[in-house]
Amino acid sequence: MIKRILIAGGAGFLGSHLCERLVEDGHDVICLDNFFTSQKSNVAHLLNRPNFELIRHDVVDPILLEVDEIYNLACPAAPGHYQYNPIKTMKISILGSINLLGMAKRCNAKIFQASTSEVYGDPEVHPQPESYRGCVNPIGLRACYDEGKRAAETLFFDYHRMNKTNIRVARIFNTYGPRMHPFDGRVVSNFIRQALSGQDITIFGDGTQTRSFCYRDDLVEGFIRLMEAPNEVVGPVNLGNPGEYTIKQLAELTIEMVGNDNKIIFEPLPPDDPTRRQPDITLARKHLDWEPTVSLRDGLSKTIDWFKTINADDYRPPTPNF
Ligand code: NAD
Ligand code: UDP
Repeated sequence: MIKRILIAGGAGFLGSHLCERLVEDGHDVICLDNFFTSQKSNVAHLLNRPNFELIRHDVVDPILLEVDEIYNLACPAAPGHYQYNPIKTMKISILGSINLLGMAKRCNAKIFQASTSEVYGDPEVHPQPESYRGCVNPIGLRACYDEGKRAAETLFFDYHRMNKTNIRVARIFNTYGPRMHPFDGRVVSNFIRQALSGQDITIFGDGTQTRSFCYRDDLVEGFIRLMEAPNEVVGPVNLGNPGEYTIKQLAELTIEMVGNDNKIIFEPLPPDDPTRRQPDITLARKHLDWEPTVSLRDGLSKTIDWFKTINADDYRPPTPNF
């Protein structure tokens, strides 16, 4: 059945792939974005499709639309972006969620929240299951994002309990792939850009901290499966690749794959940088029959190929934090 689907944050890295997928599936897709950390070129190839529509709008302001499903991806995701204006970041998570949950309630629409592994903070439990309540510093530099996303989850579950709103909450772990903003400051984009341009590779800290990297196609498949799951599967559900790597391993793999023999340099570790992160995806396997299929090496290869095709001058660094 053709559905009217709103994707807030739809012009971003993940959102633009979700738009593509849902347009291909024949749905009537509305992409809403204020282009804070993205640009129209991410969805330019969809603009001539009759079932795609683009709206420039900020989710902190209400908007009236008639839809059947909503994906809320609108939020800066990279530390340099969300720390640029931390008060606005908190407003986006809270007011943006309230506005979209209100729309879901009014339209009786199903609504998906792009939550994050950051709700676990610097975790004492490893790997992290959804039942773990996290270890977040509420007054640190990352709090605007972590606590904003935690508050958004609270709002989603309160709308669900109070209004029977049909919600889906995904806790997304580090995801990478083509169309990442080249100046987002995230580790995969930084390392690839540095490796390709012959620069030194900047490891923050000693590089022993870990992350688990999921390729974007696997993640988008997880989004759709969660949205289409039976109504009792509201989440939160971890979506991520359990393959865990130290940041030093990622640097070495990127250097090897790009083949430029870059030097690694070590810079200070930012405050509250989580020491380890790995999703427990038991629930996603059980309820969504989902697990990642793309290895880090294969995903990096596709991402490196994409970075080779772009001209960095076509991208505006979203914030001076870069
Ligand atoms: P992104 O920065 O590419 O996408 C976010 C999009 O939201 C951008 O297009 C941006 O312009 C838009 N946006 C920001 N503020 C907005 C506002 N006030 N109103 C309307 N649009 C706004 O990042 P992404 O990696 O595609 O992340 C998408 C979502 O997934 C985010 O909510 C993020 O928190 C979540 N997430 C991503 C990851 C990851 O590793 N990529 C991990 C955990 C959670
Ligand atoms: N990092 C790094 N060099 C960089 C960018 C990031 O060593 O050029 C580290 C960062 O300190 C963190 C990890 O890589 O430990 C992942 O950082 P990212 O910003 O991608 O995501 P997050 O910390 O939110 O998981």
